[in-house]
Amino acid sequence: MNTTPLDNLLDLDQSALKAYCERVGEKPFRATQLFRWIHHRGVGRFDDMTDLARSLRAKLAGVAEVRPLSAIADKTSADGTRKWLFDVGQGNAVETVYIPEDDRATLCISSQAGCAVGCRFCSTGHQGFSRNLTTGEIIAQLWHAEHQMRAKLGLGAGERAISNVVMMGMGEPLQNYAQLVPALRMMLDDHGYGLSRRRVTVSTSGVVPMIDRLREDCPVALAVSLHAPDDALRDQLVPINKKYPIDELLSACERYLDAAPRDFITMEYCMLDGVNDSPAQARQLAGLVKNRLPVKFNLIPFNPFPESGLKRSSNARVQAFGEVLLEAGLVTTIRKTRGDDIDAACGQLAGEVQDRTDAQRRMTRAIPIVAAPAAAASRPFVPQSSKQ
Ligand code: SAH
Ligand code: SF4
Repeated sequence: MNTTPLDNLLDLDQSALKAYCERVGEKPFRATQLFRWIHHRGVGRFDDMTDLARSLRAKLAGVAEVRPLSAIADKTSADGTRKWLFDVGQGNAVETVYIPEDDRATLCISSQAGCAVGCRFCSTGHQGFSRNLTTGEIIAQLWHAEHQMRAKLGLGAGERAISNVVMMGMGEPLQNYAQLVPALRMMLDDHGYGLSRRRVTVSTSGVVPMIDRLREDCPVALAVSLHAPDDALRDQLVPINKKYPIDELLSACERYLDAAPRDFITMEYCMLDGVNDSPAQARQLAGLVKNRLPVKFNLIPFNPFPESGLKRSSNARVQAFGEVLLEAGLVTTIRKTRGDDIDAACGQLAGEVQDRTDAQRRMTRAIPIVAAPAAAASRPFVPQSSKQ
């Protein structure tokens, strides 16, 4: 019996698929046809690819497959947000979220099973890290969601259900760079999902060298998870800051703007009660970026989960923080929470992770967060018991 695993064609962007076709003795133009069948039309069975020669279909069926992810849960929220939980083997599962709005529909995609960065306020971070997703597993989330939503919405073959992609699900996309970039290329490919660079966003906690590489290899819209106005606090909230502190991160963002499809960088800021949400911290934050880097702030009300010991800032506090930024001339929006009735909101994506990094224990032992000196006026932060 032949036990060689079949090659997963979802792992291959168009140029890799051309090389693959050549390797199996086919003309490279066949790759475009094949790629369109898979990504543009959402067909996974070679037998259904009717304009491919029968001999080619038979040859492919012997060596390759379009390997979908299997959904172990599929929930739709009262506001139309839909979340799939996909099995990625060996006890790991990742989540993908579809968010419809009036003028667009965004898919939030995972890049890793777990995450090794370990941010204090993120439930993925609390689960630790198991493994990187493959290119095929990253794109399979879009493949599945696009074609399911097309069917659900009764869209025709040329119509698209998903207009935007954000790499804001589980994982740090720039710590899975080699697998990420071909997936981004498939999203942008006119024969694939045809998304413009402005409509594909990579969100990062700040992996500086990889921001520089993304600028060279595949500059899409960039969002940076900042969350603190100074290194002392950011070191505690986003531990990768110890390696790539704020000043280096902002310099990388300045360099990125040369190639970016938008003329600003999005700065995400998760609002944590009594930790990073004082007016003094807002002023400090404005001072960091003003006259240095064009940014848009996106304030995200913290979505609590029991183990974090953190609390969401009140609406009044989020508003007041936003107003300081606005008065400093910085474009600021407050993110609406979507899908929280199905645990699909930012930072609630937990999936199932077979942690190989012992994150649970490290994070439980972590020292309490103490706000930095500039925030001395704010209340001291005392972690709550996870029982509360
Ligand atoms: N690892 C990447 C992308 C995934 S996280 C990153 O950190 O940017 C996507 C966004 O959700 C980030 O801005 C992250 O900081 C935010 N987030 C994480 N946990 C959250 C929570 N509990 N409440 C609100 N936002 C959260
Ligand atoms: Fe990882 Fe992003 Fe969560 Fe931080 S916020 S632990 S980088 S997924």
